[in-house]
Amino acid sequence: MSAPKTGIKVIVVGAGFGGLCAAIECQRQGHDVEIYENFPQLKVLGDIISFGANAGRIFYRWGDGEVVRRLKPLTIDLKGYGFRIHKYDTGELHKVIFDYARDDLGIPIHLDNPVTEYFEDENHAGVVLKNGKRVTGDVVIGADGVRSKARELVLGYFDKPKSSGYAVWRAWFPASEMAKDPRTKEFCEHGDTFNGWIGQDVHFLFSTIKGGKNCSWVLTHKDDHDIDESWSFPGKIEDVKAVLKDWDPLCTAIIEKTPPSALVDWKLVYRDPLPKWISKHGRIALLGDSAHPFLPTSAQGATQSMEDGVTMAVCLKRAGKGNVPAAVKTYQDLRYERVGKVQKTGETTRDLWHKTDWEKFDAEKHAEDNFADVFKAHVDAPADAEAAAPLGMSANPPPSPPKRKQDNSVQRKKKTPLPLID
Ligand SMILES: Cc1cc2nc3c(=O)[nH]c(=O)nc-3n(C[C@H](O)[C@H](O)[C@H](O)COP(=O)(O)OP(=O)(O)OC[C@H]3O[C@@H](n4cnc5c(N)ncnc54)[C@H](O)[C@@H]3O)c2cc1C
Repeated sequence: MSAPKTGIKVIVVGAGFGGLCAAIECQRQGHDVEIYENFPQLKVLGDIISFGANAGRIFYRWGDGEVVRRLKPLTIDLKGYGFRIHKYDTGELHKVIFDYARDDLGIPIHLDNPVTEYFEDENHAGVVLKNGKRVTGDVVIGADGVRSKARELVLGYFDKPKSSGYAVWRAWFPASEMAKDPRTKEFCEHGDTFNGWIGQDVHFLFSTIKGGKNCSWVLTHKDDHDIDESWSFPGKIEDVKAVLKDWDPLCTAIIEKTPPSALVDWKLVYRDPLPKWISKHGRIALLGDSAHPFLPTSAQGATQSMEDGVTMAVCLKRAGKGNVPAAVKTYQDLRYERVGKVQKTGETTRDLWHKTDWEKFDAEKHAEDNFADVFKAHVDAPADAEAAAPLGMSANPPPSPPKRKQDNSVQRKKKTPLPLID
């Protein structure tokens, strides 16, 4: 059942996950919405993407579970790996959401219509299209991605992206060669798989998809190139092999099967958190990557852009047509802190994987260093002491056992990458 109409007209710029979700949610909450998108047709992105439960529950509300039913056959169910996350091919997933918005809900999506300018006053906001047409509404959502034009208007200056110090090589290709090689065929024989290796300053994630018929990998590594606005280039297989020189030979076996034309060298750009996401009159708001670019290691960029859209739609509904600027300010306040914290996980997860001191814990050294004190306590103990209980524990344990000192550091040789999941 559709929500009562609010009379609020929302213009969304960009039909990525953020823009599509914002439009779908705005319509769910009773607003009139349309999308303007630069690209002339759907792009095949050929990449995998993870969505957490926070995105799953958004998808689930669309069409009473119908959208999830359409997505399921495209996913790798990772529950068997201990994750409650699904991975999708971004291009196919994006198409399911795009088709749901356009065909099921009838949301107008104007492709091949780049927005060149934004404008607003106290009462309205709008965009100017490349063809010169002006479109006016109550609020504009700038979901125009990491190279956002809307951001310039909101900030009042051009915020240059900076290098994150890392880049990813990415590839997606048929797994036929993989299936012929005895070293790699196991990845193709048991349906979809998800595999990872981590090591000093590098991690390598590899998936077989489509029942083992296609494969995709992403290798994140150090890269200090100074980049400008263009950050995607063809890659060289020799460069990838050089980075993986001392790694598990299985990684190189996978890399060798990659057709050179499938390899992309993608520089990971970053921006510091923006001081604000909304314009002077509170009628133009940034959403998704335009407000907060994410590093892939958070695996939350698309999901957070979806949460933005849900929040904006609710704020507009609750505030009503007469209070749009206050609704937009509320959206920013409700989202800003949470997004900032999740954004940080892009760096903390990466550093956890890349900077772990594998040499830290040495069991032999630990035993040698600590033996004397612990042994002495047992030798000195009265004969009737509870010999079988570990030190600090009683044979008749108290309600809460005393805390014991633990060393949780991981032990691993520096040069040998650790398989995340076999
Ligand atoms: C290698 C990699 C792996 C990732 N893995 C994950 C993951 O596992 N999980 C996850 O949640 N996220 C992941 N992300 C991040 C995620 O892809 C992004 O955060 C998300 O797609 C951002 O969506 P968006 O809608 O904000 O922007 P975009 O998807 O960039 O969409 C912006 C849209 O705006 C359009 N546009 C731009 N300018 C204009 C204009 N002037 N006029 C009209 N239209 C315009 C563009 O054409 C585009 O379609 C990953 C990213 C990378 C690079």
